[in-house]
Amino acid sequence: MAFALLSLVALNACEPKPAKEGSVAVAPAAAKDLHTQSNADSIAVSHLDLDINVDLAGKRISGTALWTIDNKNKLKELKLDTYDLTIDSVLVDGKKAPHTLAPALPHLGSALHIPIGDNAKQVAVYYKTGANARALQWLDPQQTHDKKSPFLYTQSESIYARSWIPCPDGPGIRYSYAARVTVPKGLLALMSAENPQQVNDSSVYHFKMETPVPAYLMALAVGDIQFRPINERTGVYAEPGMIDKVRNEFEDVGKMVTTAEQLYGPYRWGRYDVIVLPPGFPIGGMENPRLTFCTPTVIAGDRSLVSLIAHELAHSWSGNLVTNATWNDFWLNEGFTVYFERRIMEQLMGKTYSDMLWELGYQDLQTAVDEIGPKSPDTWLKLNLTGRDPDDGLTDIAYEKGSLLLETIERTVGRQQFDKFLNDYFNDHAFKTITTEQFLAYLDEHLLHGDSTLYKKIDIKAWVYGPGIPANCPRADMERFTKVDAERTKFLNGTAPAQLTTTGWTTHEWLHFLRKMPATLTDAQMKALDEQYKLTNTGNSEIADLWFVMSIRAGYKAAYPAMEQFLSTVGRRKFLQPLYAEMMKTPANQPMARNLYTKYRGNYHPLAQETLDKMVNKK
Ligand SMILES: [Zn+2]
Repeated sequence: MAFALLSLVALNACEPKPAKEGSVAVAPAAAKDLHTQSNADSIAVSHLDLDINVDLAGKRISGTALWTIDNKNKLKELKLDTYDLTIDSVLVDGKKAPHTLAPALPHLGSALHIPIGDNAKQVAVYYKTGANARALQWLDPQQTHDKKSPFLYTQSESIYARSWIPCPDGPGIRYSYAARVTVPKGLLALMSAENPQQVNDSSVYHFKMETPVPAYLMALAVGDIQFRPINERTGVYAEPGMIDKVRNEFEDVGKMVTTAEQLYGPYRWGRYDVIVLPPGFPIGGMENPRLTFCTPTVIAGDRSLVSLIAHELAHSWSGNLVTNATWNDFWLNEGFTVYFERRIMEQLMGKTYSDMLWELGYQDLQTAVDEIGPKSPDTWLKLNLTGRDPDDGLTDIAYEKGSLLLETIERTVGRQQFDKFLNDYFNDHAFKTITTEQFLAYLDEHLLHGDSTLYKKIDIKAWVYGPGIPANCPRADMERFTKVDAERTKFLNGTAPAQLTTTGWTTHEWLHFLRKMPATLTDAQMKALDEQYKLTNTGNSEIADLWFVMSIRAGYKAAYPAMEQFLSTVGRRKFLQPLYAEMMKTPANQPMARNLYTKYRGNYHPLAQETLDKMVNKK
């Protein structure tokens, strides 16, 4: 997932157990996933047949989840995760069975207990979703791009699949699935599976995902959606009013898949398609297998933000193929993916380009460490999310510190060696889950071989079981950003923006130029920049978001109408959070934050609402 969520402050986290002294990693231990109440890891749950009706007017999903099981350990009951679901009835091997729904626990929801016999083979759960389904965002027509039809999309990561399917909802439990989805006439349904490419008359769609996946990769989108191919195995989906723009922006996606395969081996999921969702989508992208879910805020018109697609595509290896065993090991998904994403971008755009991505990532890491606290255990790569919402772990630490550890290893052992290691790693762990400790043991066995010089240089313990940014953290070459720094200095010394050399700058140069400005610019400086570079009305969401934050700081009111427009449509949490946070910093701006949030809260996904409710003190 491209997430980059900041300011999640760690409270009362117990310290994870550090690795043993010495060069060799700790012995791999079985991982206990504390964020699922299901016992499906002991009862082999192999397959799900889902048959659901999606009622967009009533904002409810209802239907049956039929689980194929193998009660090999002769357990007395099957436990599934649910969150705000109504369970109508349960059948075990076709016979009605009693069931109980335990009281809801914070974050985890209610465990569904189903008594089963030793030889039980199939468990069918008849259910409906509730009003507080955290995975679901139901859009009224006016909240979509085309404003004609309602829309639904899901976001199941990290533990929200249970709010639309009664399931074993842990990253360590995989199953194949088939689905039959009934939707209102004229709308198309898509899943993280083999997908249709056009609307049919029956309004019933069939899906197949034969490769076992964990519940957090269950996904569904329903709306007025069209398809356009890119090449024989890649394509894009979007609302009709956006489809041509989207097709143009993602021209290079086919090439990206080929580049990724050259780096780390075959793409193993068949097709790779991308759906661009309406603007309320709460995150940048979600790596749902075969069909990446993506925010429209990457459609900049100049393909300058497509590294997000490289990121989601890279998850087809790191995350979807080799999966973190628990949310404490989240960095194994995201750190690997960011590293892989930058290697794809280096291949496609050149090293000076990927160097900019590395440096901006480093800046993000610095911000995250400052906000979380440089000594907080939440800045370790190995997390301890016991008793907490796993979303607390979805910070830039996993993404940026994780990728920088891999970069450190690459620089220490050499790229060729490291690439060979990564190819083996993906092969040896394909369709399996892995803990941090298992990874460290594998790293030792296949790459570091107990070599104390290498261990000393890399200092793995400081990265995985230590806080903040380790002393040996690598930095990217600053070739292009040094030039940007020079132009910024000229501007701050009084050179008019028209005299600055900005020709050929990409989004990344602009971000660096603006990020490193002094905390507050004068109104005259803001105005001069705006007049020359039209920043208030930029169509680039990354630049717009940063510019609006600067505008709030500087009290540059000329940007406020455009900012309100942005806040009224965009639901991407990464953009909303800094803007509302900046407004909440001063008593003078707090009423503006509350007023805007009251007006537009209804346009945001439940997950974004949860984050912002806390921030803007709505609840
Ligand atoms: Zn990701």
